[in-house]
Amino acid sequence: MSKLLIVGTVAFDAIETPFGKTDKILGGAATYIGLSSSRFDIDTAIVSIVGEDFPQEHLDLLTSRGIDIEGIEIVKGGKTFFWSGKYHNDLNTRDTLETQLNVLADFKPVVPVNYLDSEFVMLGNLHPLVQLSVLEQIKNPKLVVLDTMNFWMDNAWNDLEKVIKLVDVITINDEEARQLSGEHSLVKAARKIAEMGPDYVVIKKGEHGALLFNKEKIFFAPALPLEEVFDPTGAGDTFAGGFTGYLAQTGDISFNNMKNAVIYGSGMASFCVEKFGTGRMENLEDMEIQSRMKEFKNLTQFDIELSANKAL
Ligand code: AMP
Repeated sequence: MSKLLIVGTVAFDAIETPFGKTDKILGGAATYIGLSSSRFDIDTAIVSIVGEDFPQEHLDLLTSRGIDIEGIEIVKGGKTFFWSGKYHNDLNTRDTLETQLNVLADFKPVVPVNYLDSEFVMLGNLHPLVQLSVLEQIKNPKLVVLDTMNFWMDNAWNDLEKVIKLVDVITINDEEARQLSGEHSLVKAARKIAEMGPDYVVIKKGEHGALLFNKEKIFFAPALPLEEVFDPTGAGDTFAGGFTGYLAQTGDISFNNMKNAVIYGSGMASFCVEKFGTGRMENLEDMEIQSRMKEFKNLTQFDIELSANKAL
């Protein structure tokens, strides 16, 4: 079985959407990535840090999904990373209200010995120097995927550039792709980002789907049209977890297989948004994943005869 090592925040979130508000609940990039990638037939581990205020039941949830948490450091007397955000009515855009780094400010990650030979590495959202330090510890990864956000572009640009140079795939949302590249057109943005290092650029567009770029090749996957979207928090990370989990399980990192990985990522993300926080991902059944992937296939498959010299 392939090993997938994830680094990212394990956190408390306070979220406000047009449908309601939560107090401090379980969140964090690595949490969402892990809850998604652990649905695949792979060995998953998380490297992260929390404070003493972090409830054991949240750690137990990760363990119950088969995730190795030896790499999650618990700091005595420390406070866990905290993020709060408020979504606009369109649910595609949000404002960060507060980011408290707390224990993350002094994090020196240590990759568990068992995972030093991980074939797949998912550098989830946190300080780029922490992402870099994790990457330096892994011997010879087959595929390294990076996710980041505007906070690190604003606060650690030079370090972020160093990590971007070293990764194979970057997953990023549309606004962040524009900020990172200085280009409005996503096609131009993807080209510029690829020049910074990654061979593959995945741009997530929320309810408008996701784009995969590799040299001159482009693939587009829509998002599943859902009746109810309660809370988009973690959708991007859940996408990244599904994307990397699928690649790790299949072991095939070709462009063609990455298209399937984008579909799996989108499918997993479609569950995440149906409840507040991690609620939906915690109780997801394998059968539900299977039937949603079938739905996805039916939605996107079509058969048009294209004539060589006529419009129709
Ligand atoms: P997403 O909605 O996929 O962008 O991810 C939301 C998750 O990212 C939340 O659960 C937050 O705890 C986490 N998060 C927010 N800001 C940061 C940050 N600056 N660094 C790392 N993780 C963050």
